[in-house]
Amino acid sequence: MKLSLRGVGKTYSGRRGETNALCPLDMDIREGEFISLVGPSGCGKSTLLHIVAGLEPPTAGTVDLDGERVRGPGAELGLMFQQQTLFPWLSVRENVRFPLTLAHRRARGTRGSAGDADRQAAQVEGLLRLVGLWDFRDSYPAELSGGMQQRAALARALVGQPEVLLMDEPFGALDAQTREEMQELLLHLIQRHRITTLFVTHDVDEALLLSDRVVVFSERPGRVLASLDVTFARAARSSELKLDEAFLHQKREILALLRGRPRTATQRDRLFLGLTNTRTEGGS
Ligand code: ADP
Repeated sequence: MKLSLRGVGKTYSGRRGETNALCPLDMDIREGEFISLVGPSGCGKSTLLHIVAGLEPPTAGTVDLDGERVRGPGAELGLMFQQQTLFPWLSVRENVRFPLTLAHRRARGTRGSAGDADRQAAQVEGLLRLVGLWDFRDSYPAELSGGMQQRAALARALVGQPEVLLMDEPFGALDAQTREEMQELLLHLIQRHRITTLFVTHDVDEALLLSDRVVVFSERPGRVLASLDVTFARAARSSELKLDEAFLHQKREILALLRGRPRTATQRDRLFLGLTNTRTEGGS
């Protein structure tokens, strides 16, 4: 397994007491698999993503990447969030190059050689061309549209050639058309690089369009209601898929779960797909 989560749960402690954000859960994610996490707001999806990223410690359980315990953020993981996270004082090109510069300084304690710099420049150029921003390489984030900013953020998430991509509603703030363009770009990129991806969204269409598997969470404290294999081939996916009967069937199934009308097959799916809640019921 690329990623293995065992008994991962989270309770936040603060001045106002404890918030049980996520019930302990187990999850196995295969190499190259694209999984979407959907569920009501506040059910712990972002918390789970931050735990996998090593940005937030779990209060229970463990996360292993290729059999090694995740204890903090690492270069194997590419991150992308909904909010604008580009550095406003760096150009698009400098923003995309930033993780490489950082990784090199960490690894060598130096600025790196001229050969390294050339390789980095070529890598950054390749990605900027791929996401259609080469002509804007010297622009600053404030000079770009929201969609272009997210394309730059996507290039930055991919530049370190991560093995796992963690995305938290990355297209949530975009208008419908730009969002579709970004979804198609992301599909193209992940098919090309076969990156294992965990993707948080509350858009069921988006989850079905992009994923191999959709994991549906209950209201807070989040627990897994179902894990559904997406049945149609990814190669055939485009915005037209949304009219497909099989697509609509799976969409209705997920919406029913989100509205609190679980199917009878849920328990069986959990067992078959290796995805269970360690605790099936969780109080707040
Ligand atoms: P989602 O991504 O599904 O909307 P989150 O993971 O952001 O949900 O949050 C889950 C719950 O944990 C929410 O009730 C939220 O208020 C709470 N929470 C998130 N982060 C913190 C924090 N740093 N401190 C305290 N509570 C938090």
